[in-house]
Amino acid sequence: MTTTSSLAFLPVLERIAEEMERTPGRGRPADYIPALAARDPRSFGMAVAELDGTVYGVGEWRQPFSAQSITKVFTLALDLAREGDELWEHVGREPSGNPFNSLVQLEYENGIPRNPFINAGALVVTDRLQTRTGDAAGELLAFLRAESGNPALDFDKEIAASETANGDRNAALAHFMASYRNIDNDVPVLLDQYFRQCSVAASCGDLALATTFLARHGIRSDGTRLLTRSQAKQVNAVMLTCGTYDAAGDFAYRVGLPGKSGVGGGIIAVVPGRCTLCVWSPGLDERGNSVAGVAALDRFTTLTGLSVF
Ligand code: GLU
Repeated sequence: MTTTSSLAFLPVLERIAEEMERTPGRGRPADYIPALAARDPRSFGMAVAELDGTVYGVGEWRQPFSAQSITKVFTLALDLAREGDELWEHVGREPSGNPFNSLVQLEYENGIPRNPFINAGALVVTDRLQTRTGDAAGELLAFLRAESGNPALDFDKEIAASETANGDRNAALAHFMASYRNIDNDVPVLLDQYFRQCSVAASCGDLALATTFLARHGIRSDGTRLLTRSQAKQVNAVMLTCGTYDAAGDFAYRVGLPGKSGVGGGIIAVVPGRCTLCVWSPGLDERGNSVAGVAALDRFTTLTGLSVF
């Protein structure tokens, strides 16, 4: 996949990888499911994808990891492309300031989740995509395979089974929103789709490539348009304000890019009009963001001077 056309940021990535090697204190892997708890917190990979599809990286950038909540960006884009603004009647776009799996705000806000990147909001988005396509997770997988150019990209059955076995909290969220008529599908059907969505295994290279439509203002890798320019701006804006759990303010302050993290330790980030990034290191801070991942993106924007500000 690496081509010689432009590897502009490779020296910066190499410097960051060296710095990360010397940095102690990497946080702890997610332990809400056993399948994630076994990951080595010292693993590290980082990739850049340029708008022409050139992709390169350092460390374990070709190693698949559990994408988890990073997939929420793609289901949001796929549903927004289909239904447009009607989606925003069912999910908000304000930071929640609460943990990703929180139930508390739902009761005050009549079953309308705060944003599409907390679990409640992602369940609503997946539910709506399911209604429109009949196979939300399959739609997501087809999109990721096409954009990454990797036909082997797939769900991880062990992770999906582990999510299902430990899924009471997500089931509670879905049932609660169903009581407000904000879920269309039967809850078990929705949960099956959502857990498979979370279980996607993909590498930094795959995810950086799959995110390039957001740096191309809505245009997919084959030149067709997924989102209008305005919708691409909307998704980037929601990533900036809500993409890193209840630490989005700190992420914007340190990194200054739209980003989305997942509890597998990955983070994607967008430099609109220029490139995308994906970094992976499984050790998380107490908010659920990769410690080395945030540090590496912070160094990237500092060393290159690139950010949306
Ligand atoms: N599968 C996780 C859950 O729904 C996703 C967590 C995440 O990456 O934020 O609990």
